[in-house]
Amino acid sequence: MARKPVVDQFACTGCGTCAEIAGNTFALNVDELAQVIDPAGNPESEIQEAIDTCPVEAISWEE
Ligand code: SF4
Repeated sequence: MARKPVVDQFACTGCGTCAEIAGNTFALNVDELAQVIDPAGNPESEIQEAIDTCPVEAISWEE
């Protein structure tokens, strides 16, 4: 099974960048924190870009 991105909701500041980069994978929830809506919603390269761009390094891969 492919690896999945996970969001540390305690670290997330709700900036929304990940949802802009990979909007089929990440979305802000009712608490304005990012959550994974589909772990394979975007190509891994776009998910990786979201991981690399997150200002607080709140996203990581779960094998
Ligand atoms: S880029 Fe990081 S801090 Fe910003 S909403 Fe996504 S997980 Fe949260």
